[in-house]
Parts: sequence; C-alpha cells; structure tokens
Amino acid sequence: MRAVDLIRKKRDGAELSPKEVQFLVEGATRGTIPDYQLAALLMAVVWRGLTPAESAALTEAMLYSGKVIDFSDIPCAKVDKHSTGGVGDKTSLVIAPVVAAGGSTRGTQTSAKGQRSVCVPMISGRGLGHTGGTLDKLESLSGFNVNLSLAEFRHVLETCGCALIGQTPEIAPADKKLYALRDVTATVESPFLICASIMSKKMAEGIDALVLDVKTGSGAFMKNPADAEFLAGLMVETGKRMGKKVVALITDMDQPLGRKVGNALEIEEVIEILNGGGPPDLRELCDELSAWMFLLGGRVSTIAEGKQLSGEMIATGRARDAFRDVIHAQGGDPHVVDEPSRLPRAKHVEPLKASAAGYVTAIRCEKIGVASMMLGGGREKITDTIDPAVGLVLKKKVGDRVEAGEALCDVHYNSDARLRDTMALLAKSFETGSEAPPARPLIEKIIGADGLSWLNK
Ligand code: URA
Repeated sequence: MRAVDLIRKKRDGAELSPKEVQFLVEGATRGTIPDYQLAALLMAVVWRGLTPAESAALTEAMLYSGKVIDFSDIPCAKVDKHSTGGVGDKTSLVIAPVVAAGGSTRGTQTSAKGQRSVCVPMISGRGLGHTGGTLDKLESLSGFNVNLSLAEFRHVLETCGCALIGQTPEIAPADKKLYALRDVTATVESPFLICASIMSKKMAEGIDALVLDVKTGSGAFMKNPADAEFLAGLMVETGKRMGKKVVALITDMDQPLGRKVGNALEIEEVIEILNGGGPPDLRELCDELSAWMFLLGGRVSTIAEGKQLSGEMIATGRARDAFRDVIHAQGGDPHVVDEPSRLPRAKHVEPLKASAAGYVTAIRCEKIGVASMMLGGGREKITDTIDPAVGLVLKKKVGDRVEAGEALCDVHYNSDARLRDTMALLAKSFETGSEAPPARPLIEKIIGADGLSWLNK
C-alpha cells in the first residue's frame, strides 16, 4: 500500500477498507508516513467525512496503536469525563477532585485501596485550535508532572482517587501524533476525527464509564446543535460498542464558561469554585457532570442525589483537599490551593472598554479563544511555548448591562505587540444592543441516557 494512493482515494470520496485505515494509522504512529501526507489525509477526511465502518476502523486502529490499560483489579468504578473543547472550560479540574472525594467512603488521601466506590483516571489533551487544554492549565502549577509513567498513574489514582495525565508514549500514540498535526492544519473540526481522537484515548485508559461534554455554539468546534448531536451520537455508539457506559451532555459554548480564560487564570477560577464561590454557570456544569459520573459509577441512584453529593464535597472542603492531594502527588505546588497568588501572573492588565451603553447581546466565543492564544496562552505552531500567565477576565457576560467606558474584559498580557493585535480582535468580540437577549440553557440535551437498564441499579 502507498499512502499517496489512499489519500487520493479518500480525496475522491471512496471508502477506505479497515486494512487501509490501519496502514495509515500505523504509518502515523511509527513515523513512516511523513507529516505532509498525514496533513493531506486529514484534510481529505475533513472534506469527505468517514463512513460508519471507516469511523469504527479509525477509532480502533488509534486505540490499539498503543497500550490499553487494565485497571480491573482496582476495586472501584473507573469513570472519566471528556469535553470536545471549549473556551474557559476548566470543569475537568473541578470534577476530578469532586468525584475523587465523593467516590471515597472515608475522606480523601486517608482512604486505603478498596474504600472507594468511584475513581477518576483522566487522560487529557493540550489546547487544540482556539480551545484550551487541561494539560496546559495543569502545567501552570509549578512542578506539576502530566507525564507520569503508567505505574505512577496507577499509584496516584489509588492514593488520591484521581490522576491527571497526558498521553504517555504508550497510550493512543496515533492520537498524540494526529492531534498535534490537526491543531496546526485547520483539521480539527471533523466529527469523525474528534470522535476517534477522544474515544481512542478514553477507551485506552481502563475506564468503565464515560461522561462526554459535547460543546455547541460560537466557541465550540460544533457550531450548531445538530452537528453537536451527531458527534455525541457517534461517540456514545462507539463507547457502547466497546462495552462502556457512556452518556453525552450537549452544553452551551456560545460564550466562555465562567469568567476566566487563560491557563493560570483558569486554575485560579477552579480554586474559587472549590472554595464554594466562582461563577454560577461553571458551578452548575461541574455539579451536573459530577452527578452523571457518580451515577454511572454506581455511587448514587439519581442525578439529584449526585448533585447533592457534589455540593457536599465542595461545601465541606473535601474536594479542595483532594485537589491539593493530587497536585502534591504529581509534583506540583499544593500551597497554590490556599494561596492562589503563587500562580504565574502577567505583568500588565489592560481593560477593554465598551464604546456605548447597552446590554451584551453576544460574545464571539471563538474570537475570545483566539485572543487568549494570541496573547501567548496557546500554540499557533507545534513548537510554540505557552505563557501560562496571560489571558482574559470577562467583566461582562451575555445579558449583562454595560455603561459606555465600562470594562467588558481585562486583558492580562506580557507583550505590548501581542496586546495591540489582541485588542483589535477583542473589540470585535463583544456585541451590545438595547435589550438583553433571552438566556440560553447551559445544558441543552442529554444523549445516551434513555432506556439504559443499568441506570438506578
Ligand atoms: N478533544 C480531543 O481529545 N480530541 C479532539 O479531537 C477534540 C477535543
């Protein structure tokens, strides 16, 4: 087989056989197919899509490009959550400690092996396109190691009830390769590539159940709800075919989640939530996602009970303790949880001011994500390094009243040149009008929960 023939075949709309898909994935993993051919192939997939058989073959080939972890001897339900990517979406960093704490019958770190009903082995990604990545956020915690070996991953999971890592060279290496290429070749927004990327990683991490947060709106890869629903269905089906409990929540990403966008700023907002404060939209989504994780893990029997448990973990400080524990276990500075001022801080802050009075009618969420990248918070090329301190703090969200000259957001920056370009983009990111628009629901739909016999067992 020759990669060039298979690229042409896909470009012209024909179906690739499972063997051909496997050849391409193996070539990506081993480095025998060069990046320029992989990039062309990815673009052909964006344009042509994949058939159900190609989609299944791609997910499986990516999953088996590496090791599939077996945690079956850890006596608790292994449950994870994954988002399709958004702006200001830091929910993973809240719900991992919330579920770790609530999944334990006796506190957090003191719990010995066997005293947990639910734990969270989480393998996350870096920023992709205009969206932020959990790993980049975690690395703004000085010393935090996202590159644990699989033995260390297991140890942290057993000790803390959650562990947060990036793909090791052993886990779905094909995704690691393709993810980085997609990020810089405008080939992220294909539901088939997103499904294979997410599900190959998630199926490799030894989980029993998965909660998917499929974003829709101007800051999501799936701009409209129908596309989000298609992607959710694709992922739920893929997970179920592989014997996992999977539910997908379709949630609003028409404006950033919470108020802070940027790596260290988002960690700061996570700490606010774990202290019982923080923005209500972020808190609502964290409680909902945690509740689904508790439910799929068999810890509670209704979503209402799950939300109550999530609330308790925050109100009692047990989730905050779990966050401190996991930061410590992974080599980071745990004192940050009590002193967020230890996080990296940008040298300068500049407000973006409203030119007229009115109500904020829309926030162009993708532009906000790009603005954070332009400040240095994300990568435009694979080789770019990230400035953890920069980002934005929204002073106004959709529906808020604003007066002329009042700040719409504060820009945290370290470079004047970057600020100039970013301000021009940000000025186009907020729309105001004479009336507040109707509020959009944060959780739009739940896919995969109907008729599930295992629910409430
Ligand atoms: N998250 C992933 O892990 N992969 C994607 O393709 C998109 C979001």
